[in-house]
Amino acid sequence: MNPVIVWYRRDLRTYDHLPLHYAIQTGQPILPLFIFDPAILDSKRASPARLEFMLNGLSALRDDLQKMGGDLYLASGNPKEILADLITQTGATDLFYGIDYTPYARKRDEAIANTLNITIHALHDRLLVPPQNIATAEGRPYTVYTPFKNKWRTLEKPICVNITSPQFYDTSHLPQAGFPRVHPHGVKIPTATSEYGRELLSTFMSRGVYTYADGRNRLGNPSDNPQTQTSFLSPYIRFGLISIRDIYWSAREAYEATPSNTKRDSVSTFVDEIIWHEFYTHILWHFPHVKTHNFNPKFDDMAWQYDHDHFTAWCEGRTGYPIVDAAMRQLVQTGWMHNRARMIVASFLTKDLLIDWRLGEAFFMQHLLDGDTAANNGGWQWSAGTGTDAQPFFRIFNPYTQSEKFDPSGDFIRYWIPELADVPDKFIHAPHTMPNPPKGYPAPIVDHDLARKIALEAHTGLKKEDKT
Ligand code: FAD
Repeated sequence: MNPVIVWYRRDLRTYDHLPLHYAIQTGQPILPLFIFDPAILDSKRASPARLEFMLNGLSALRDDLQKMGGDLYLASGNPKEILADLITQTGATDLFYGIDYTPYARKRDEAIANTLNITIHALHDRLLVPPQNIATAEGRPYTVYTPFKNKWRTLEKPICVNITSPQFYDTSHLPQAGFPRVHPHGVKIPTATSEYGRELLSTFMSRGVYTYADGRNRLGNPSDNPQTQTSFLSPYIRFGLISIRDIYWSAREAYEATPSNTKRDSVSTFVDEIIWHEFYTHILWHFPHVKTHNFNPKFDDMAWQYDHDHFTAWCEGRTGYPIVDAAMRQLVQTGWMHNRARMIVASFLTKDLLIDWRLGEAFFMQHLLDGDTAANNGGWQWSAGTGTDAQPFFRIFNPYTQSEKFDPSGDFIRYWIPELADVPDKFIHAPHTMPNPPKGYPAPIVDHDLARKIALEAHTGLKKEDKT
């Protein structure tokens, strides 16, 4: 019998998987496929650590498919050409995949739909509410988070789907691609399996979610279980090792499981963050130009400055601002950074150093395991003040007070900056103010008060230009 193709992209799992679910309903043999696309692998935004995480996820997916009696067919090259060949070789009649909302993926998928002689089933598998299901009273996309969230909460959410035993297509006669080489990166990659992602979800829903409202703002000591602060699910969401429906319904269960209003509020706060993820995905879908342009065009005339030494110091965690440096070292060494820390370093780059958010956004993409075009772009534009309902530009994070508030004990700083391990609590947020500052740790590269004034002047200039 002719096969149907299930094209895996950002959904490396076999449970609660819409493309697999609907492919099975055809009754035809399934051909699970993954394509290594050089346009993605060789892009300047690629991250070796994220690639390794993904490859480990792919190996686990292949194991899971083999346990079900099938396999994962690997190919490498231009997806349109690979699919055309595969259709010719196998006589495949249907192509099932989960929609990817990024501009590159949309263009690629449109080209495939316009050229290939196959029935395409493009499914909303990564979102709880797809873009066409939510709009303002005027029928326009929401561009402000809170009304989006309020409407989102009223809409019905899809339930998880069961995967019954499929029949697989035998691909053993087809030539297979090998895994691509990963450039050295020095990051210890967390276990990248669907099973582990589900374990993380289940542990978080039994404990961490109930203290999340407070935990999500605590930078804390990373040698403790990081799940006491946040879920650490983002890399698993990024590659679909866990399903978004599973996360949502697990949170609903956790909510129902407690009578405590405080704990219920905490679960709701967690769901609010999932809604941010949906919101930014919708923004990128409706306004794909935000990938490279300011959402708010007023900032197109912003006089960003570029000081190479400043940018390098930021990338390397040597700005002399311990909270910024600790966070940047966490990013480079682990491929992950706490959300509060992401906001602090993004504000510092775009406001204290007045460097264009696009440079920071690209650096994050080159390092984050969870690097996601929509969430990263949204987070950067929010922090820079150029985005949807952005932090207004004139609200500039003070790195010292952020540090005192969210890392009061200095544990986070001391963990990532060994040079500051012996600095007393009193000086940990501003070690340059000590009588004998520790050697080997730089003095602040800019003066925050002065940098703030310069940034505000740049912004005021912009406002004047706006009026003319
Ligand atoms: P939790 O706090 O446990 O949240 C659960 C999930 O909700 C996350 O996994 C994520 O899917 C979603 N989420 C949480 N906060 C946000 C948010 N502010 N915006 C969008 N989704 C959110 N998130 C990414 O997944 N990929 C990115 O590339 C990314 N880049 C960012 C860049 C900047 C400058 C900022 C300020 C934020 C960025 N975020 C990004 C959002 C957020 O920082 C991460 O999702 C979060 O830190 C991941 O850790 P967690 O899974 O423990 O989050």
